[in-house]
Amino acid sequence: MTGPYLPDHGDGGYRVTHYELDLDYKPHTGRLGGRATLSGVASAPSTRVVLDFGALTVNRVSVDGKPARHAHGGGKLRVRPARAVDGPFTVEVRYSGVARPIRTRHWGELGWDQLADGALVASQPIGAPSWFPCNDLVRDKATYRISVTAPSPYAVLANGVLVDRRSGGSSTTWVYEQAEPMATYLASVQVGLYERLPLAIGQDVAAPARLLRAARHDFARQPQMMRVFEELFGPYPFRAYQVVVTDDELEVPVEAQGMSVFGANHVDGRRGHERLVAHELAHQWFGNSVGLSDWRDIWLNEGFACYAEWLWSERSGGPTAAVLASRAHARLARSPQDLRIGDPGVANLFDDRVYKRGALTLQGLRTRLGDAAFFATLHQWTHTHRHGTATTGDFVALAQRHSPDPLTAFFRSWLAEPRLPSM
Ligand SMILES: [Zn+2]
Repeated sequence: MTGPYLPDHGDGGYRVTHYELDLDYKPHTGRLGGRATLSGVASAPSTRVVLDFGALTVNRVSVDGKPARHAHGGGKLRVRPARAVDGPFTVEVRYSGVARPIRTRHWGELGWDQLADGALVASQPIGAPSWFPCNDLVRDKATYRISVTAPSPYAVLANGVLVDRRSGGSSTTWVYEQAEPMATYLASVQVGLYERLPLAIGQDVAAPARLLRAARHDFARQPQMMRVFEELFGPYPFRAYQVVVTDDELEVPVEAQGMSVFGANHVDGRRGHERLVAHELAHQWFGNSVGLSDWRDIWLNEGFACYAEWLWSERSGGPTAAVLASRAHARLARSPQDLRIGDPGVANLFDDRVYKRGALTLQGLRTRLGDAAFFATLHQWTHTHRHGTATTGDFVALAQRHSPDPLTAFFRSWLAEPRLPSM
């Protein structure tokens, strides 16, 4: 047994129940001014509160309304309250500067990023401190209220439901409420010259005018996909689902809670990337509602989202999951077999083998359990851990309850051993 992944991130001594973020953003200069109010609960008396926070300048910090001393550096904001915190407390941090992504060793630049005209947030897994001070621990989920003021022609999207929009002078303030708990890496703000395209009740696309026509075609089947996934996985866990298509190209789409972000290059007017539409939508159940306790279990997000791509193919007239699985198996058989997907290591969190072998694990489980018990397992999984967090051990135990035969050796061979099992 090894320790948690990314042990330098987050602080287990307290949890955050709510973030209130008031931001002011100027797209032309990239300047971001912010006030973050965190409602926390300390598990024991403490004379320090340590937050994760990147390179923006901290102007003022207070704890429970009283100014607090603080030191900021190395990605940490160390706050010394005038009085020790114990139980519930609030920290308010005022900050400003030009927001930039955080450079990481394994995953390039993460977090708040300037687009050609606007901004995008892509934090997975540790980019959140680039734009707000937080307890950057994947299992520490909180509710959010995100308010962003930007020049009036720009549209602002953030997680949750738009509860207020006020224009004054040349700027507009957009206020979003995320009532369901959310991990920090899934918090997101998107700013751009976007137009809104409604797909269905609770499903919108925001895209630049030049891409609307192609987006209308490429996302046309998403409402149908939503119905199929609700049938297979259980009720959609959030109030709305927003898709953003940026004017810029993106290497990969970005998942956020209640939101997915695609690049201009993912929209071709021919549904050439519908696989990704399915993948990102599936993350709302697997990754966002059912969150991770530790990054080690990343296959619970990516294997499931990849398997959802295959399920959508099967249900929309494409190759079946079994056919796609055998193709993926053949490709994996030719790849190096030196990765344990149940514990891939921090550097390999987003290795494609985690995705494909994770999906193959689910296809193997489906074959063993049969469709009725397999999909009952998925329903129970999303229901039991809705808006919470879970581990691989939780999934294995749940699947076992749906199987008359022991599954220990099956899961061990797929998740804990490097050698690829046969299908
Ligand atoms: Zn994914």
